[in-house]
Amino acid sequence: MALNPLFMQFVWRWNLQIQILFCFKNAFNNISRRHFLDIVKTDFPDIYNFINFCYGGISDLQWLDYIINSEVGSQQGDPLGPLLFALVLHCFVKVLQQLCHFSLWYLDDGNLIVNKSQLTEVIKVLQGNEATEKGLFLNLSKCFIYSANLPEWASSIKYFDPECGKEKIVPSGNSGTVVLGTPIGSQKFVDEFIQQEIFLPLEKLLENMKLLKDSHTEFFLFRNCATFCKISYLLRTLPPSQGVFLMNGYESRMKGFLKHLVKIHHELPELSWFQAGLQFRLGGVGLKIARQHHEAAFAASLIQCKFWLIKVCSDKVKLAVENLISQFTTSLRSQFPANFPDSETISNACITQQPLQKCFSSCIDEHLLETTLSNPELPSREKARLRSVSSENAARWLSAAPNTRSFKYFEDNQFSALLRYWLGIPIFNKDCRCKCGETVDCFGDHAITCKSGGGPIHRHDLIRDALFDLCNTAGLSVSKELSGYEAGKKDRVGDIVLHHFDHGREKLIDVTCWSPLYSPRIQHSADSAQYIVNEAHTFKMKSRKANNEGKIQTSKGMLAFMPFACSSLGTLSPEGKSLLQAIAFEMSLKHNSPKSLCLSKIYTRISTSIQQGNGFCLVNKMTDLKIFYSSNLQY
Ligand SMILES: [Zn+2]
Repeated sequence: MALNPLFMQFVWRWNLQIQILFCFKNAFNNISRRHFLDIVKTDFPDIYNFINFCYGGISDLQWLDYIINSEVGSQQGDPLGPLLFALVLHCFVKVLQQLCHFSLWYLDDGNLIVNKSQLTEVIKVLQGNEATEKGLFLNLSKCFIYSANLPEWASSIKYFDPECGKEKIVPSGNSGTVVLGTPIGSQKFVDEFIQQEIFLPLEKLLENMKLLKDSHTEFFLFRNCATFCKISYLLRTLPPSQGVFLMNGYESRMKGFLKHLVKIHHELPELSWFQAGLQFRLGGVGLKIARQHHEAAFAASLIQCKFWLIKVCSDKVKLAVENLISQFTTSLRSQFPANFPDSETISNACITQQPLQKCFSSCIDEHLLETTLSNPELPSREKARLRSVSSENAARWLSAAPNTRSFKYFEDNQFSALLRYWLGIPIFNKDCRCKCGETVDCFGDHAITCKSGGGPIHRHDLIRDALFDLCNTAGLSVSKELSGYEAGKKDRVGDIVLHHFDHGREKLIDVTCWSPLYSPRIQHSADSAQYIVNEAHTFKMKSRKANNEGKIQTSKGMLAFMPFACSSLGTLSPEGKSLLQAIAFEMSLKHNSPKSLCLSKIYTRISTSIQQGNGFCLVNKMTDLKIFYSSNLQY
């Protein structure tokens, strides 16, 4: 889809001839069924019977008490619908290719490059009897003639409008045009389009979203519906030199909404906004577009489309495409030397049309994060936090769809508090004193570990229940909090008992969750996110007096024991990960679904339950100490 706008970008730059956009009335709904059935019969005989079954007869559409016969058009929602439409249109496209310099179509959206006599011919073909017979009705009032140097004749092309019975003029202009949602033309034209078509609807959407008054749902909609797709499409089709207004405007709106979600009125801390710009995988929310991302996205789409661009364009355009690709990739490679694909990979990708955008963005984000982490002035706590939130699968909770039935829902205050904790935005006033006697720090680190109020125990139980549910779903024989395994004075030795797991015997699992931001451990956590989970694991093994084989003494003899160690920011111990892998394996067998999908569900559930526990700790401390979080804004 990016091909058409990209191509037209080049056309615009070289001031080629007149360009016209074509539009049909109710294109898909009017197409003749008899004609596409004929084409399918000759060109795709294998699916003819099926298509004939779907479209061969007249079907009934019911409206109130009326029955309307459905006789023309491909059905809405039919995955084959666009193909069937395109088959009929293709007969005409073949003719048009002979008639004009250039004709490029994306379904019913056509872009033609023509001179005056060619345009007259084209209109004749598309308005002719054959076209109307096949269900194509040219809508000249919605066509658009464009050229940077528009000749006089172009603004006087007339057509007959049967509705008012008068002759009218086909719209035309010289400031710019829109190809498949991408504005092409002067900077002013592009910026006005972005303001009208992107920013105004986005603002309206964000304002309406605030009415939900539920930060988790708002966040989910914000992240999945708030024009993210449109923006990433524009990054791929709009040259970076024209993208300043788009990026600044988009960024300021994203920032504003994030402030609303975390309930603050003042500026976000710089580091928090930096983090929010990173991708989910690295602990961010993917909100900011760095200039480099625009270059990378545009270069990636040029690489992907190069094969076709050079096939259909003149040598001048070919050279320009090659220059742009090399200019952007060289610049990006020098800025992000680690992992950026080498020239060979890129020339291969040009041939295979491989999508590289994800790979480029990861390179950029990883580099930006690494640079921030290696800054000697970054406080250890922030370093430890960034390391943990960017550890593997830690940030899964952020992409979970809010759903109470699958235990993936955060209440309004909980979600806002968590988002602050995650992004390093202060939560409490510095001078708060906790009931346990210690000081409650503004970032919430004390609240996450303070035993008064039962927060950590509740978090532990949530993680244990999540593990238990997952084992059950995977069809494993499992019990929780089972007594009868007493060893010495302890009444239980594992939170969860997996029966028939260790060569037909029980395996005991004990959940443990430590905070990497607990002050005595911060220095180590700043160096590695794994430190805390390894410590927690070793501590549990020692305290349960596990032997070299990882077995412990119970009243039922020596049984396999394993701590499920995680950090409060979502890092998992290697042993914990391998347990989840094993559960995913069983789950994929039982439900006959791909293991990667099961694993992804499992990680999301675990990550969510850890954060639900944290949310409880934070909100509990707020209500306990009577700190009202929305009004607590100064720091
Ligand atoms: Zn406390």
